[in-house]
Amino acid sequence: MKEEEIRPRKIFDEYLRLAAIDADKYFSGVSRREIPCPACAGKGEYVFSKHGFSYEECPSCRTLFVSPRPSAESFFRYYKESDSAQFFATTFYRETAEARREKLWRPKALMIKEKLKQYGADRHSLVDIGGGYGIFAEEYSRLTGIPVSVIEPGPELADTCRNKGFHVIESFLEKVTEEQLPEGPKAFVSFELFEHLHDAGVFLQHLHSLMHSEDIFIFTTLSGTGVDIQALWENSKSISLQHLNLFNPKSIQILIERASLSLVEVTTPGKLDIDILFNNRSLIKERFWQTLVDQTTESERQKWQDFIAQNGWSSHMSVVCRCP
Ligand SMILES: [Zn+2]
Repeated sequence: MKEEEIRPRKIFDEYLRLAAIDADKYFSGVSRREIPCPACAGKGEYVFSKHGFSYEECPSCRTLFVSPRPSAESFFRYYKESDSAQFFATTFYRETAEARREKLWRPKALMIKEKLKQYGADRHSLVDIGGGYGIFAEEYSRLTGIPVSVIEPGPELADTCRNKGFHVIESFLEKVTEEQLPEGPKAFVSFELFEHLHDAGVFLQHLHSLMHSEDIFIFTTLSGTGVDIQALWENSKSISLQHLNLFNPKSIQILIERASLSLVEVTTPGKLDIDILFNNRSLIKERFWQTLVDQTTESERQKWQDFIAQNGWSSHMSVVCRCP
């Protein structure tokens, strides 16, 4: 898989341009609050600023996070009204939907099916938290015939999922009650959501309160210790105003255990780190990676990608946890 296929440069750059303007428009005057490391609650150290947001890194667990952090309300407003959030939800989505369905969502549905089978949860009803346009839900139900519920707070997105025939809970996960969920054993999933959460601890604790002992939760998110993010650092496009927390394989375990859930598995099955570095080689901040991507063939770069992914150093992370 190539970065260009799921994130065409022209469209993505336009989104980033709008996002830079919106960072100023929606957040320049709002009050902000210092927060401790969202994983281990330690004290972070300032590392850089981007688009008017200040990023700290936890010296202990290496979580990278926005602090001081604007209020949750300012983000709600941003997601509801801003040009860049609109652009992402409409133009970006429309232009990339079919490529993403094929390259991302279909393989993801297969991966989730296999993981759930491995952990004895493949007959559980599925709950997709932050289901968006319902593309994963479509692919998963087509593949397995298992009923899928979607938790989605955006009214238009919730409508789209309802029109596709899914059971929709139009709400943030943090407000969902047990009665709204399907009965019986459940497998919860969420994709690329954790990096956006204003308070990941509250999210997990609430999810735990909705889970029973046989339930399972699988999610994917960015890992801040992944190769492309480490090598590009503040030049990384993953460092954008919508991403507030970049956990990593070590720190996500701390977060999960603080929410009294147990970690079953953490992997980094990413495919794009080296391709991202290759496409952004003039922005790399470390000589080693700059030289490496410049002096290797495509098949050599693929070997590096496989090695990085297999050893926990890709920036795309997948986590499985359950109630103890
Ligand atoms: Zn920490």
